[in-house]
Amino acid sequence: MTASQVRLDGLDRLERYSRQMILPGWGKEGQLRLSEKSVTVVGCGALGSHIANHLARAGVGKLRLADRDFVEYSNLPRQALYSEADAAAGLPKAVAAANRLRQVNSLIEIEPHVVDVNADTVEDLIIGADLVMDGADNFEVRYLVNEACVKHGIPWVYGGVLGTYGLTAAIVPGETPCLYCLLGQMPPPGSVPTCETAGVLGPAAAIIAALESVEGLKLLLDRRDALLKSLVVVDVWTGDLERIQTQRGQTRCPVCDDRHFELLDAERGSLTAVLCGRHAVQIGPRPAQALNLAALAGRLKDIGPVVVNDYLLRFEVDGCQLTLFPDGRAIVKGTADPVQARALYARYVGT
Ligand SMILES: [Zn+2]
Repeated sequence: MTASQVRLDGLDRLERYSRQMILPGWGKEGQLRLSEKSVTVVGCGALGSHIANHLARAGVGKLRLADRDFVEYSNLPRQALYSEADAAAGLPKAVAAANRLRQVNSLIEIEPHVVDVNADTVEDLIIGADLVMDGADNFEVRYLVNEACVKHGIPWVYGGVLGTYGLTAAIVPGETPCLYCLLGQMPPPGSVPTCETAGVLGPAAAIIAALESVEGLKLLLDRRDALLKSLVVVDVWTGDLERIQTQRGQTRCPVCDDRHFELLDAERGSLTAVLCGRHAVQIGPRPAQALNLAALAGRLKDIGPVVVNDYLLRFEVDGCQLTLFPDGRAIVKGTADPVQARALYARYVGT
């Protein structure tokens, strides 16, 4: 047994948390409570990587990290857990985040899931969690998470960031308004600015992720009395900060009043999403279908150079880069046209 293992045993296991345990209402009891909690982080980009970092360092017992994408150099200005080596290796974000956080806190359990969060996968990812944290980059996933969390009665913390501003609210099904109550119907695709058109400032993401994490920690510590019960809107450039009090309104909500889960119950079909800020499209079968990457690499090797590892296969063709995952998904980089992406997938992977 090494010295570091000895130091991680017994009461020393709590020593690292001493600065937060002396906070009012926290204590050893609160710390032990955190160690028994499980959190799902949906998305490990700008928001999710900061959130996972905060919760792992705070000592949350189990983190389930879900993300569909891999690390690129253009992520590094905002996505705090990743390095140039991760981008060069093209590691999936969930795996790179787990690798980093295991170095930070070996006392907790970290479970990476390289997966598209959609109607087929979301319930498996959140069932058993005490809390879900929003690190997603699009409204469809947020509204889906909202439905799934209301259905299963799991608290979650919403957060979004764009340009220099962002917003966040903690949502406790049955107690607070849900996302649909707060924001109304999901905005149709193309109707709102995205990080592709408006950009995103790293510190804005860091602040929203920090605010989300604090509300999340209150929920995990069973301190619901301390929740802000507000939609918090912050612009880090202008310094404006607004708290809009939230409460259940008189209007019936289709999600939390009628339990009508439109996105969760949607018909299955193909998976197509234009990825925010990436000039890339994700496509693939729904539900997921296992893809044998090694066998596919054998078939593609005559077309051009193929890179394959445990997590993905990558090759370039027709000016696009295709990255394929074992669940059958592909991220086609070099186009924002779903038709072109689907054609490439059909030609080189199969339909
Ligand atoms: Zn609602």
